[in-house]
Amino acid sequence: MLEQVKEIPSVIRDLYENHVTKHFKVIAPTVLHVNVNLRCNTKCAMCNIWELKSPQALSLEHFEKIFSDPVYARIEYVILAGGEPTLRNDLPEIVELIHKHMPRLKKLMIPSNVISRPSIQKQYPRIARYCGDHGIRLTFGVSLDGVGETHDKIRGVKGAFEKVMENIQLMKQMQKETPFNMSIDPTIFSMNVHEMQKLKDLAERLDMPITFQVSAVADDYYHNAGIEEVLKINDEGRKTLVDFLKRRVAESSLFDALACYYTDVVEHHEGAPTRALPCPFADQGLLLNPDGSLQYCHNSRPIGNALEKSSSEIYYAPENVIYRDSVRKDTCPTCRMSCLFFVSLRKEAFPFLFFVLKRMFGVQRLRWRKPRKARTSPGGGPKPASVTTSNSAEETFPRV
Ligand code: SF4
Ligand code: SF4
Repeated sequence: MLEQVKEIPSVIRDLYENHVTKHFKVIAPTVLHVNVNLRCNTKCAMCNIWELKSPQALSLEHFEKIFSDPVYARIEYVILAGGEPTLRNDLPEIVELIHKHMPRLKKLMIPSNVISRPSIQKQYPRIARYCGDHGIRLTFGVSLDGVGETHDKIRGVKGAFEKVMENIQLMKQMQKETPFNMSIDPTIFSMNVHEMQKLKDLAERLDMPITFQVSAVADDYYHNAGIEEVLKINDEGRKTLVDFLKRRVAESSLFDALACYYTDVVEHHEGAPTRALPCPFADQGLLLNPDGSLQYCHNSRPIGNALEKSSSEIYYAPENVIYRDSVRKDTCPTCRMSCLFFVSLRKEAFPFLFFVLKRMFGVQRLRWRKPRKARTSPGGGPKPASVTTSNSAEETFPRV
């Protein structure tokens, strides 16, 4: 309760910035996605990053130089991803360096395939201790896509499921020493759409929250445009997905932000032509790649290289700001990326509050009306969407 009271000034500031300031000036970024490498130790069916085998990675000196720029000073939410981020031995140093330059950091998310036990043993306790000591909410994501062989098949590594199970136990032991959050984060597509319930049951047995992400085509990030067919969920799978999500919405609490998100995905699969949820990357996000290039979001083109120019110059450059306006206008409405939607729901508040209000009157919809006709993609169904679902209070509205 005390934590929520402490949040009130920042909620008021965010509301003002998101409903007034941003219409007059460019607001500084508050969310940052960093891809620390492009290497991976699994060969996932829904992503081609592992094929790149790219040695590209920014050194600690590079990070120091880049993050010294004042444009990062207001960052509150950071995702450290890759590739497989834990393959970098200096991940704890990267975390500390980030916090040194981003003193407002509230929440850090590190997704991992959790295959490498030595990396977990070496890195996680130090990162957890650091975050604990500095009041940063830390979540280690576990990428688990199926139960048993399904997971091995999707990740292209025999015995991967067993390793993940063993490493989850290791992480649970670590949690007793230094508290941190853990969640299971499956990526759902044609190969595992029928295992959502099994995965949810497994998460319950492990007493862990679960966050489903339906695979999305994002060629600049996952390099997966060539495998769209593998990702595509057929009509039967789509029905399974929609029914599953509707059940999650029905059993969720009134203030669960994820219910809002599931509903957007369900409505998308029922034919809604545009997303109803805001995205924090649309006006206050940055994404840094291992070669130093910056993007506004996963679906923006590179806007400059932070090793060659200051990040402030790049972020505020008039031509880039005009380009971002065009992304907002042309790309955002049909973009299905889920990235940090809960941050927007907190910062903008009204879409979420209207949703809650409707639910109080028994209307489980973001839009007032159900779309008349299902929109279909060239393959027969709506394009792959990003979906997140969780059984934890971790991502509920008041706590983000
Ligand atoms: S999805 Fe993640 S774990 Fe899988 S190949 Fe791509 S980067 Fe590696
Ligand atoms: S294109 Fe997608 S990821 Fe980028 S800002 Fe818009 S909604 Fe967010």
